[in-house]
Amino acid sequence: MILVVNAGSSSIKVALFKRDLTEVMDGQVSGIGGALAHLKLGAEDRDIAAPDHDTALAVILASLTAQGITHERLTAVAHRVVHGGTSLVDPALITDQVIEGIKAATPLAPLHNPNNLAGIRALQNLAPGVPQYASFGTAFHATQPDVATIYALPKEPRAAGIRRYGFHGLSYAWIVTQFGDKLPSKLLAFHLGSGASLCAIKDGKSVATSMGYSPLDGLTMGTRSGAIDGMGVLRLAEMYGADQAAHMLNKDSGLKGLGGSNDMRLLLAADTPEANFAVEHFCYWAARHAGSALVALGGLDGVAFTGGIGENSAPIRKRIMSHLTLFGDVPVHVVKADEERQIATDALTLMNGAT
Ligand code: ADP
Repeated sequence: MILVVNAGSSSIKVALFKRDLTEVMDGQVSGIGGALAHLKLGAEDRDIAAPDHDTALAVILASLTAQGITHERLTAVAHRVVHGGTSLVDPALITDQVIEGIKAATPLAPLHNPNNLAGIRALQNLAPGVPQYASFGTAFHATQPDVATIYALPKEPRAAGIRRYGFHGLSYAWIVTQFGDKLPSKLLAFHLGSGASLCAIKDGKSVATSMGYSPLDGLTMGTRSGAIDGMGVLRLAEMYGADQAAHMLNKDSGLKGLGGSNDMRLLLAADTPEANFAVEHFCYWAARHAGSALVALGGLDGVAFTGGIGENSAPIRKRIMSHLTLFGDVPVHVVKADEERQIATDALTLMNGAT
């Protein structure tokens, strides 16, 4: 069985797959580092003490063992790693070299990669000998041409890795897989969840995406501002200090900043002027960024929506598409996001290649 591990800042999500990719169990520990964490996994649903990621993973493995899934039954552990930098652009068996690569990319994702590394280290200790694999959230976008990823900056900051990367790559890879041989040549994909981005996919490869150096750029999101002028960011840093400004842009902006809630369902139900404006801002900017991506794509054969909003909200899909009628009447698809299954698939592909 393959254990997929997705270590976030205060939660670790896991999913267990058989080799034929049927899901056996999924669950998570939430509230890591808080006064009381919570384990929900298979038949277990209880408060636990989890001051750090190592403890949380130990609890998860103990819970799996108690439910009959011992270490010996794990053929692999597969991790979601948010940022692979410029060097890690394919799923990989985790070796010392890959760990060095993830460390090297840590300045690019200071809030995410350390949690992923903690997860990898913890599993090395808790399940020694079980091979571990990594799939990178940035990797799908490695196919973008330089002109799409390079900021017009002087040489030194460019050499330091200040460029566009793109995120939600596992979600886009999953969308491509789901189309099989019916994949439209020029596909515009929207991942609309609490984070939101879009990707121009030409013959299965990313040619442009709305997120950039960090997942802040592009569309209006649940709590992230989306695109904002660099000088505006510098002014915010002057007004509030850099840390507070970063917090504001990432946690208090977007739908929450405009409409008072990051929950699209609440905003749609509220029907207040602020909520309506937040929803309109979300749809308008999704379409504005789509216009830019369609230039990179050079046409449009199909649109795909995924993520909590993209999958569940027909009114939002309709409003975004209403801004895009000038690009013709194209088929709209809804794809259920399943990054965990994509990660398991990646690991399985590597395992099969290795045997
Ligand atoms: P995450 O990125 O945290 O995994 P999700 O992909 O689950 O988030 O997306 C969360 C968002 O999806 C929330 O804004 C939520 O309100 C929205 N959402 C879920 N169901 C619906 C629905 N039926 N209509 C509109 N929005 C929805």
